[in-house]
Amino acid sequence: MKAGDVVFILLCYNLTMAVILDGKNLRDKILTELKVKLDRFDKKPTLVVILVGDNPASRIYVNNKKKTAEKLGINSVVLNYPENISESELLAKIEELNNDKEVTAILVQLPLPEHISKENVINAISPQKDVDGFTPYNFGKLFSGEKPIVYPCTPKGVLLLLDEYGIELEGKHIVVIGRSNVVGRPLSQMLLNRNATVTVCHSHTKNLAQITKTADIVVSAVGKNIIEGEMLKSDCVIVDVGIFKDINGKTRGDVDFESAFQKASYISPVPGGVGPMTIASLMLNTVELFEKFSA
Ligand code: NAP
Repeated sequence: MKAGDVVFILLCYNLTMAVILDGKNLRDKILTELKVKLDRFDKKPTLVVILVGDNPASRIYVNNKKKTAEKLGINSVVLNYPENISESELLAKIEELNNDKEVTAILVQLPLPEHISKENVINAISPQKDVDGFTPYNFGKLFSGEKPIVYPCTPKGVLLLLDEYGIELEGKHIVVIGRSNVVGRPLSQMLLNRNATVTVCHSHTKNLAQITKTADIVVSAVGKNIIEGEMLKSDCVIVDVGIFKDINGKTRGDVDFESAFQKASYISPVPGGVGPMTIASLMLNTVELFEKFSA
């Protein structure tokens, strides 16, 4: 059943239902405003995406980023290297891009092949071109409660979505499920910096349901179906970051939408929630780096 079908059924039976946190709509609004801003620039930013190997999912993500950038008038360059490129060759390429005045932003599409250290590659990116906000400089700033040059894209997208719907964060108990460097960890710090009370859960967390039942806001970034409506407090806010294909090949999130929808006051769908916000944040970050360092 699709999110739209659930809304229709609940409307028919006059049942309470959550407001959908519509990431597509907000993405479109952000990109429209960004295009107006970019049209006024004489020079355009350049976003370079490094893709190693031939992972089909990565290729789709990279193509979406390129298409969105091009629609805005951001120069978009995809450097696709073979799976067997050495770490030193990749580091040399990043050094070249760091020194190239025409390059505004560098993104390395993860995952990388096993023989290449993700840490070494990310650490090699200049913090001033680190469009994902993943370098130790930007992470260090974030984790010490200071402003990084830019914030990591997916957590930034989650906060933009919550802010758009006027959802108060200060003093709220927010449960973040997942502690990766891409989502859970930076997001938990960003929420802490917004004066939320944050609990971070992970694969070793015991009694997850007992914790989620105390949450005003649940953000799930796992990649498995782990949240059912009965694990939630009434009127809570749900942000579903997870994306995976179920056994029928259907794209879905961590949260059982049907049962959570009846419990929550706001819920983000998958697809159409956080995914579009990640792309919007990437474009915002590219323009922010350009304005700070190249304009
Ligand atoms: P990840 O690196 O695999 O991290 C997954 C996290 O989930 C880990 O911290 C893991 O705990 C935790 N976890 C695993 N099983 C769990 C369980 N049963 N209970 C509680 N926690 C559990 O993945 P990621 O990169 O953060 O991505 C997470 C999901 O978000 C994926 O589905 C990914 O596709 C999606 N994603 C979406 C976007 C978007 O734009 N919408 C962007 C990025 C990621 P441990 O640390 O203990 O292993």
